[in-house]
Amino acid sequence: MYEIGHFIGGKKVAGTSGRTANVYNPATGEVQATVALANDADLQAAIDSALSAQPKWAATNPQRRARVFMKFVELLNQNMDELAVLISREHGKTVEDSKGDVIRGLEVCEFVIGIPHLMKSEFTEGAGPNIDMYSIRQPVGIGAGITPFNFPGMIPMWMFAPAIACGNAFILKPSERDPSLPIRLAELMIEAGLPAGILNVVNGDKGAVDGILAHPDIAAVSFVGSTPIARYVYGTAAANGKRAQCFGGAKNHMIIMPDADLDQAANALMGAGYGSAGERCMAISVAVPVGEETANRLIDKLTPMIESLRIGPYTDDKADMGPVVTKEAQARILSLIDKGVEEGANLVVDGRGFKLQGYEDGYFVGGCLFDNVTPDMEIYKTEIFGPVLSVVRAKNYEEALDLPMKHEYGNGVAIYTRDGDAARDFASRINIGMVGVNVPIPVPLAYHSFGGWKSSSFGDLNQHGTDSIKFWTRTKTITSRWPSGIKDGAEFVMPTMK
Ligand code: NAD
Repeated sequence: MYEIGHFIGGKKVAGTSGRTANVYNPATGEVQATVALANDADLQAAIDSALSAQPKWAATNPQRRARVFMKFVELLNQNMDELAVLISREHGKTVEDSKGDVIRGLEVCEFVIGIPHLMKSEFTEGAGPNIDMYSIRQPVGIGAGITPFNFPGMIPMWMFAPAIACGNAFILKPSERDPSLPIRLAELMIEAGLPAGILNVVNGDKGAVDGILAHPDIAAVSFVGSTPIARYVYGTAAANGKRAQCFGGAKNHMIIMPDADLDQAANALMGAGYGSAGERCMAISVAVPVGEETANRLIDKLTPMIESLRIGPYTDDKADMGPVVTKEAQARILSLIDKGVEEGANLVVDGRGFKLQGYEDGYFVGGCLFDNVTPDMEIYKTEIFGPVLSVVRAKNYEEALDLPMKHEYGNGVAIYTRDGDAARDFASRINIGMVGVNVPIPVPLAYHSFGGWKSSSFGDLNQHGTDSIKFWTRTKTITSRWPSGIKDGAEFVMPTMK
């Protein structure tokens, strides 16, 4: 058993609330740690430390701020194995998959090493007689991030790296399911040269989130998690006068055209549907083969692949996927599968009874495949967030396109085809934020931006890329005039450029 507190003022501290939550090993079902749940006093301590450190950090020149991230990236690489295990033992995913979690965050840290360039201003010489006009970007002050369990490395780094590089202080409220890695990241940021107080980690549940949303000293909030909470955080933050970007759930479709390479499509569906036990916001959970023949061939290819998935604890380095995160998540997934059967979908591969010898109390769910799913079914409408793939058969391209177009969520989507016309038409017409053409998980790289449409995202600026620089800074526009030699009297009309 170990105890996880908070990280405030450059060091680990214990919580003062007396409230804790259990942290489980999803492979065994054992409680392996407790995590402190912050109260207002813990949050205030973090804010006090952020308030006292932030002005000096904002005044530190951007090249020096960038150097902290250079060193941090080096430390992430040096400690990669340890960091991945910290994630896997609380999240349950395989160690290789956890390395991907760290690396996708590290890439955003690499991106913000360009902060001197990214924060350069706009300047207009001679905007009027002897007038110059320029716009600068200044940090918002204190930013906060509230993150989900499924990427305890990547998503915190997507938030704190651009926020801190822009000169802000940051309060991170990670998921209480797997809180160890974020604390370790904060330690490594200090080792990389970040002044104490600039990155604070406050663990907690709804109480800590509500504290953040109500606090007058927090200027901007970034949230990633499920849609109902994203909607709540967005509304509350905005009502309290904060800038907010909130990313929610997903139901990502893959359209498989009759001309697609079906081996490639089936392999892509395996990785995107079952990798990380389907607990990715960019997981493919709906396959839409076009035409009966494509559908039949796809099901024939997928069935044996799903039946032979290797499922194991993170210590099994040959496992394709691990358990799901909690007993509640396991129960929810299993009940949704039952519901799909009740609704009349054809459960071609049934993973409900999966048990792993020696890990009988682990939160495992075997890979499941549903065929003949229809849009009115609960398993189609709801984000299952488990290793369950639903096949919805479409007669033609237009019918296939219509499915993701009409779905509530709009995070990611993919099309598999060799037809450039179809792919181009699809990418242009689809109302979804991230599109893959023969790419199953089109998570944009750090220098582009990440974000969905519809109920997958609330707010107008995305994560990472240049959007993140805009989100974590405010624009100030300065008009300056040096009127030497000009004699002008009082002007009472609105100044214009007429
Ligand atoms: P979650 O919504 O349960 O939790 C996310 C965060 O909100 C956590 O820090 C949690 O402590 C906090 N929280 C939970 N309940 C709250 C409440 N009632 N009030 C205030 N705060 C609360 O999500 P999760 O289960 O940790 O993560 C899975 C979800 O996240 C999935 O829906 C997935 O699609 C989504 N997700 C989205 C993206 C994206 O970029 N769109 C990325 C990753 C995950």
